[in-house]
Amino acid sequence: MGVEDTIVAVSTPAGYSMQAVIRLSGPRAVECAAQRFRPRDGGAGRLSRTFRATPGNFVLSGDGLFVPAVLYVMRAPRSYTREDVVEFHVPGSPALLDMILHDLVAHGHGGLSLAEPGEFTRRAFLNGRIDLSRAEAVLALIRARSESELLAATSKLSGSVGRRCAGLQEAVTDLRAQIEAALDFAPHGIDLIGEDEFMRRCDALRAEMAREIEKGRGEIASDGTVHVVICGPPNAGKSSLLNKLAGAEKAIVHAQAGTTRDAVSAEIEVGGIFFRLSDTAGLTEHAAGPDAEAVRRAREHICSCQLLLVVLDGSVPLPEEAVVAPRLLPAERVLCVINKCDLPQLLDEETLDARGFAWETLHTSALTGEGMDGVREALGRTVTEGRLDASASDCLFNARQRNAIARSLEEMGRAAGAVGAGLGYEFAALDLREAAEALGEVTGEVTSQDVLDRIFSQFCIGK
Ligand code: GDP
Repeated sequence: MGVEDTIVAVSTPAGYSMQAVIRLSGPRAVECAAQRFRPRDGGAGRLSRTFRATPGNFVLSGDGLFVPAVLYVMRAPRSYTREDVVEFHVPGSPALLDMILHDLVAHGHGGLSLAEPGEFTRRAFLNGRIDLSRAEAVLALIRARSESELLAATSKLSGSVGRRCAGLQEAVTDLRAQIEAALDFAPHGIDLIGEDEFMRRCDALRAEMAREIEKGRGEIASDGTVHVVICGPPNAGKSSLLNKLAGAEKAIVHAQAGTTRDAVSAEIEVGGIFFRLSDTAGLTEHAAGPDAEAVRRAREHICSCQLLLVVLDGSVPLPEEAVVAPRLLPAERVLCVINKCDLPQLLDEETLDARGFAWETLHTSALTGEGMDGVREALGRTVTEGRLDASASDCLFNARQRNAIARSLEEMGRAAGAVGAGLGYEFAALDLREAAEALGEVTGEVTSQDVLDRIFSQFCIGK
């Protein structure tokens, strides 16, 4: 669908309500609306008034039914989409809304079509009204399920993410411009930027990028969920615990060690906070053969999660290899569950203390359900006590944005490597160009069509 089309959709949530909004956007929005709208005072030219309420009626064709409606006109470019936008505020009856929508489309003579999910925001982005990071903030706002998510989304809407990234991008482009100029002047014996200076600036930028990526890790992800990974030796009861917590048969439970091959996940809610728990492949340090891939993925999972739930079998001594992976995270982001407390115990806090683990430890039986409320409560506390730094932040990159920064960081590393290896600035200039382009993906300056499709398809219709 081209941007020259005019689109229409109900932009308030589905269901009955006191008032619903039908929104049109595009070059024919005003014309299409005028055909069906009768201002109450009959005054002509009322539709040229912008940002003012015009009371009247929407006239349904066929039976000529008059539906009370208030009309708002927002002329391009002073509208959300930067196109002409018209809104009808009408009683929120689903059947009525459906009739109005179809009436508008039928009388639009092919020039008016129903909007796709996220299409209003997509137009706002394509017309330069907002950058991609703000479009994503709109999405986060729509999906916010708690006050803290709402706060985070609101602050992102101010454009802090885009600005932070644009700053980084400018610094990279600046550096590139300098080494390109240096290349031009080198034949004349003029040394514009020495390699030491280049390396120093490159390192400073890389450190800043690494900080931005790291910062987002401990915070609530853009989908508003705390990501928890369950890890521990095979047979400790990880799958059983996940199932008990989620109250559903999510993971395969088997008496034979190492039956969980892939991550299985479930979402639970504790006091309005959402946790996505994923069970990893039975993580052993010395695994080889077909298991190596699953173990590699498990390690990757652990490194990217916000909270680690280490599950140990309390009825057996602590296996050596079980405790290497959890060392990847600071102790305040780890919860330890000593499971199988229904059996005689061979493992306790003292053993863990003696090994230098300062984790909060809980005792459970995934078999009898004992201690499950304690686990739920402890999960909630990790957030409320601020251990995950899950509060709203003025600048919080989502996973897609962090990925783009990580790629930029990689290119910066390549540039530094090339100069360090004595290859001169030619290669580094190319790497820096790639680094700047990767950052451009955060704001949507350079973003492929399928990434855009993926982002906007997550919206609901009418937004
Ligand atoms: P995983 O490999 O860590 O995912 O472990 P599973 O959840 O597959 O459990 C391994 C075995 O231990 C299964 O036979 C479970 O029924 C059993 N199991 C799990 N939790 C408990 C528990 O709390 N008490 C007892 N007695 N057995 C358990």
